Amino acid sequence: MHTLPLYPHAERLAPLVATRRAYHAYPELSWTEFHTTAKLCEELEQLGFTVTWGEALYEGAPRSGLPPPAALDAAFARASEALGADNRYLPAMKGGFTGLVATLDGASIGPTHGFRFDIDALPIAESDAAGHMPAAAGFRSCNDGVMHACGHDGHLTIGLGFARRLAASRATLRGRVHLFFQPAEEVAGGGAVFARLPQLAEVESFVALHLGIVSERKLICDATWLAARICDVHFSGRASHAGNAPQDGRNALLAACGAVQALYAIPRHSKGASRVNVGKFSSNNANNVVSDAAQFRFEVRGANDEVCSYMHERAIEIIEGAARMNGVQAEVRPVAQFVGADNSEALVNAVAEAARHVGMRDDAGISVSNYLVPASEDATYMARAVQQRGGRSTYLLLAGQTRGGHHNERFDFDEDLLGWGVDLCAQLTGIYSDD
Ligand SMILES: [Zn+2]
Ligand SMILES: [Zn+2]
Repeated sequence: MHTLPLYPHAERLAPLVATRRAYHAYPELSWTEFHTTAKLCEELEQLGFTVTWGEALYEGAPRSGLPPPAALDAAFARASEALGADNRYLPAMKGGFTGLVATLDGASIGPTHGFRFDIDALPIAESDAAGHMPAAAGFRSCNDGVMHACGHDGHLTIGLGFARRLAASRATLRGRVHLFFQPAEEVAGGGAVFARLPQLAEVESFVALHLGIVSERKLICDATWLAARICDVHFSGRASHAGNAPQDGRNALLAACGAVQALYAIPRHSKGASRVNVGKFSSNNANNVVSDAAQFRFEVRGANDEVCSYMHERAIEIIEGAARMNGVQAEVRPVAQFVGADNSEALVNAVAEAARHVGMRDDAGISVSNYLVPASEDATYMARAVQQRGGRSTYLLLAGQTRGGHHNERFDFDEDLLGWGVDLCAQLTGIYSDD
């Protein structure tokens, strides 16, 4: 079996496990990662990093997937309560300006590295079953209805563990390292904003990673993601009495139904995988009323931007056609978008080489072949920005069996992968040492 061995350095793993559990217990939804950001800022500043956080990161950039103001305020108040009203970091985040960039300069000149770690959680009520390890071990979510069910608590732990190593090895570090603790991945919000950061413009070598995803324990050095577009559709027609004057109505419900059926029949594209789904549909009319309004939300995905755009354009034609057939109006509003990004071969190989150096043997499931993850990720915006300026980037999977699966109330991952993650980042910046 070619699988990643258990991480062998127990003394390095223990603090990572403690960190992961502390952050797991306080999960926060996209754009409300106030407590998480403040705790990260505090430790990173203590370690000697230059930290940029709050509204200063945003410069007016549009934020997609922002929750309603009341939800932002409630999450902010909860974080204030937990951290104290005089917390140094919270005020600049009010209104959802979460996330941070931490920068450290080495003792001598060298390349500029960028690493991205996402930090948000999901609207899922975490299981309290005895078989769910975080519940049994006492670090289950204390924020009702919110859970780290995708492993982002692990990602930010790898970032923080790596930061501790960088701070301890500053004398041997060459060049500059930017750690991007990105908010709002789950709503395709933070990646596009962070892609505009001046710190990212300096990055020559960019790495993002995810835990789990694939059940076999292995390191995938070249993972790519589906491009995706999510839109809301509103059909508006004319109401009339369904018995007395159906001929006077313009049926929005019928148009929406026709559109949904036809969306699933878009022909495949020869240049890669595609997906379409309608997950939400509503029309609130009495049985005796010809529907004057109907709406649904749909998504299309593609193995690359070309396939995704093809799916989107065909979907728009279908929606417009369904509207015309029924004499109603259709309005399409974009909700979110994920772009695609390829990885740089040289960096893929450098990661594999680093993996061997830190003790993952070649027979231990190091993979340099491309793996297209059948899901979407907004780190692609950052990867693309780096590549457009001539830098290189790649996306890694620290793959392994997860309990419950991603986005499930029993989700959990193998905590020893955190050790491998930190070691890999350390080796990629030339500061790894065996002792
Ligand atoms: Zn997720
Ligand atoms: Zn995730």
